[in-house]
Amino acid sequence: MKETYDAIIVGAGPAGCSAATFIAGLGYDVLLVDRAKFPRDKVCGDGISATSIAVLDRMGVLKRIEDTNPQIYDGVTVSAPNSCIMMGKNPPVDGLTDYGYVIPRKEFDNTLLDFVREIPNVEVRERFHVKDLVREGGKICGITGEEEKYRGRIIIGADGAHSVVARKLSLLNTDPRHKAFAMRAYFENVEGLTNSIEIHYEKSILPGYAWIFPTGKTTANVGIGVGTRFMEAKGIKNLFNIFLERNCFAREKLGNANMIENTLKGWPIPFGSLPSKRSRGNVLLIGDAASFVDTLTGEGIYYALRSGEYAARAVSEVLKNPGKEERAGGIYEKLWKKEFKWKEFFQGYMLQPVMSNKYFVNFAIKNAGRKQKNADILAGVIAHKLPKSKLLYNF
Ligand SMILES: Cc1cc2nc3c(=O)[nH]c(=O)nc-3n(C[C@H](O)[C@H](O)[C@H](O)COP(=O)(O)OP(=O)(O)OC[C@H]3O[C@@H](n4cnc5c(N)ncnc54)[C@H](O)[C@@H]3O)c2cc1C
Repeated sequence: MKETYDAIIVGAGPAGCSAATFIAGLGYDVLLVDRAKFPRDKVCGDGISATSIAVLDRMGVLKRIEDTNPQIYDGVTVSAPNSCIMMGKNPPVDGLTDYGYVIPRKEFDNTLLDFVREIPNVEVRERFHVKDLVREGGKICGITGEEEKYRGRIIIGADGAHSVVARKLSLLNTDPRHKAFAMRAYFENVEGLTNSIEIHYEKSILPGYAWIFPTGKTTANVGIGVGTRFMEAKGIKNLFNIFLERNCFAREKLGNANMIENTLKGWPIPFGSLPSKRSRGNVLLIGDAASFVDTLTGEGIYYALRSGEYAARAVSEVLKNPGKEERAGGIYEKLWKKEFKWKEFFQGYMLQPVMSNKYFVNFAIKNAGRKQKNADILAGVIAHKLPKSKLLYNF
């Protein structure tokens, strides 16, 4: 163990692994800590978009992921409250694959961390639960667990939706207008799965929506998400059961399936629409810790990977000049704001209440289903290949 690391990263999910890979790639020493022992479960829909695949490729880990023979999806099926359905194909976009993956996070995150473990200037420390930041002379200079402390020039909070690092900086997203809550479970013996991920707007669960994402030929990740500001007293678990019992597509596919024991779990989703900073001086927040999740689709893996890449860029700007570490935050803020368009987060935020209107959802999905071009555009937006503004111009 070193006395002082160039960068300490708290959390070894996609955000932390991305930041570790890119920072170490620049020749700096990294300490990556996580409270869990991997492989560990992470509540997620397990959808890996084409934009995520592009970052995984730049990290150099894509081949490893492909070697695990992941489930591919190349289309999106969406059903409306009136059971009308549209099926879109992922539209071709330059520089992006025409497909995404569905990979259980236990496997996906473990593949990422195994890759990072082999990078010579990264030290990985599991079962290290960060409790606080270490301050000296008004500056943050490290992290502390139960007993041990580590010092770092830059500290990166990649510790997810309940981030200790964000909380200690008073930057944790606790605003129900900018959060959702979601649950998922794994099912086996599922019937009628295709290479499409499925989104279902079941009328009894609006404004929530449900998904069935195939993880294999007969296995699926099934879940439901609801904006926290729309959450009703009856609770999300009830809504999940209502979806299974009442939705005709769920009954068709899951009627003979069984839920794998102990896999029904929930977790918050912090949205990118939160109007706040994501750094303070030499401490940067990335991924869910920074509240970087798409406001319409709940996609966060791309933002986790990409914000890790941007954090590395900011780190490289300041670490070559000792004493300039405090400038990292300012550089990072400019980088992420340029890439993660506020408009994208805001349009999704504005669409959330509209998507709770069953007449609008029926109309939009019926309209999308009429023309293949429109269905493909909607599929492209959901699969994060096209901006949401495409919906405004084409519907
Ligand atoms: C139900 C659900 C469905 C979703 N579906 C999708 C989807 O299909 N596609 C998609 O792109 N996104 C999806 N998301 C969002 C996605 O899961 C997150 O955006 C993504 O996991 C963020 O990655 P991360 O690395 O920032 O955080 P995480 O993956 O949460 O990793 C954080 C890590 O930090 C560690 N940690 C936490 N606290 C500490 C501490 N104090 N000390 C040390 N370590 C700590 C944790 O153990 C964990 O390993 C979904 C989310 C939910 C809840």
